[in-house]
Amino acid sequence: MSSIAQQHTSTFSARDLELKLKQVKLTHPEQSLPSPPSSDSGSSSPKQDSEESYFLRSLKECLAIYEEPSRPRGQSLALLSDEEVIMLANNGNIATYALEKLFGMDQLERAVRIRRAILSRASATGTLETSSIPYENYDYSRVLGACCENVVGYIPDPPWPEGTLVASTSRGCKALNAGGGVSTVLVGDGMTRGPAIDFPSAIQAGKAKAWIDSNEGHAALREAFESTSRFAKLKSLKTAIAGRTLYVRFATTTGDAMGMNMISMGTEKALEAMQKRFPEMVVLALSGNYCTDKKPAAINWIEGRGKSVVAEAVIPGHVVKTVLKTTVRDLCNLNVKKNLMGSAMAGSIGGFNAHAANILTAIFLATGQDPAQNVESSMCMTLMEPTGLNGEDLLVSVTMPCIEVGTVGGGTVLAPQQGVLDMLGVRGAHPQQPGQNAQTLARIIASAVLAGELSLLSALAAGHLIKAHMAHNRSQVNTPAASVPVTPGAGFTSRA
Ligand code: ADP
Repeated sequence: MSSIAQQHTSTFSARDLELKLKQVKLTHPEQSLPSPPSSDSGSSSPKQDSEESYFLRSLKECLAIYEEPSRPRGQSLALLSDEEVIMLANNGNIATYALEKLFGMDQLERAVRIRRAILSRASATGTLETSSIPYENYDYSRVLGACCENVVGYIPDPPWPEGTLVASTSRGCKALNAGGGVSTVLVGDGMTRGPAIDFPSAIQAGKAKAWIDSNEGHAALREAFESTSRFAKLKSLKTAIAGRTLYVRFATTTGDAMGMNMISMGTEKALEAMQKRFPEMVVLALSGNYCTDKKPAAINWIEGRGKSVVAEAVIPGHVVKTVLKTTVRDLCNLNVKKNLMGSAMAGSIGGFNAHAANILTAIFLATGQDPAQNVESSMCMTLMEPTGLNGEDLLVSVTMPCIEVGTVGGGTVLAPQQGVLDMLGVRGAHPQQPGQNAQTLARIIASAVLAGELSLLSALAAGHLIKAHMAHNRSQVNTPAASVPVTPGAGFTSRA
């Protein structure tokens, strides 16, 4: 253990580091990174594609170029080779997190390439620098300051890594279309934030609760809240007390944004107004888990969060037979025994469905939503009952109270995700009615979930599930080779 710890904590002098970096270049010339134009400082210039390209100026020379006061830092960095920038970063002259800011917008890819090298060489595995994680030809200008910090590349994202899901959901769509399509109803729209506020005593907390619940208190908080954004309209305030701690669940419309930033700003402003009235109160956290964001919670299932949508369809009996290969009776029976009774037996909250999370998460990833919000967004109750003459057709619905989506902000600014939003006709802000694009996206998700539920339940009712998985999910070519664990953690585990 001690030898591993030493290995990880050993430090180099600047000179050692310089030698080490030279060694890396000479022993792995294929890892060489393109060098920028030479400096006019009189130092030997690194040339590409020659032995000399591995020549590294001294730390002192590089520092002099980097810190030359007559030039902006970005220009100075352009005069240094990648290896020289790495040397300065490892010596503490350049913060790795600030590479993009220092390089400027026209060298964003270079910043990512250099960060990969620095982190890779400092890691136990040393694989990142030359790994198959791609980093080239990506529009990092959309990521910077919006989606991610300390970027080292990107992962091409297949939204559905489980075979059969596309095929199965397509079959569900076919059945829905054959029945005339899906109707959706939006029954709620409100993102929530629930701060935790301490008072010196339960009595004082109770007084604050009564004030918030009064017309006067409600109006004061609403005025402050709505001053922060033209899209944020306060819909409700729900209060609850535990001991001397008060929880307030703010619910607001957020236009076409998913809304967490927007509601956080509004909540902060409202609490400032409240503080004037109750100077003894202490805001413990803007999110006191009474929201509830990205964690299972009954309050979301009961009250809703984000968009609350019901999607419904009628499938003619003959389509149930020919497309879904089962019967209305078998489907309804299985839905009750599995999705309703089975989930009740398991003590589920909001899990009265077969696999809503599969479909919802795929669309979340493809459209730039926050995938961690699939926790509450996937809550769904699937219902099936016979309808029509003699009950020969199927009435099916999904009820989803917490679809948390936006078409502006977050990952929706990235080009591929925008391409998908475009395809669905809901990219960006709705030009006439703010909020309508995000609401339509929620309706689309509920409809797709309906297709997924219909097809999976049918496969289960007909006993086709395992057969379909074997056909679509067991590709021999894609079984990865075993790899030897190299992290210290893995080593310790095997010795324990
Ligand atoms: P979120 O609140 O989901 O985290 P952001 O705050 O990142 O999202 O994005 C919302 C931003 O987009 C706000 O600055 C808001 O003023 C702007 N915006 C422009 N048009 C709209 C719209 N139709 N709906 C919501 N926000 C919009």
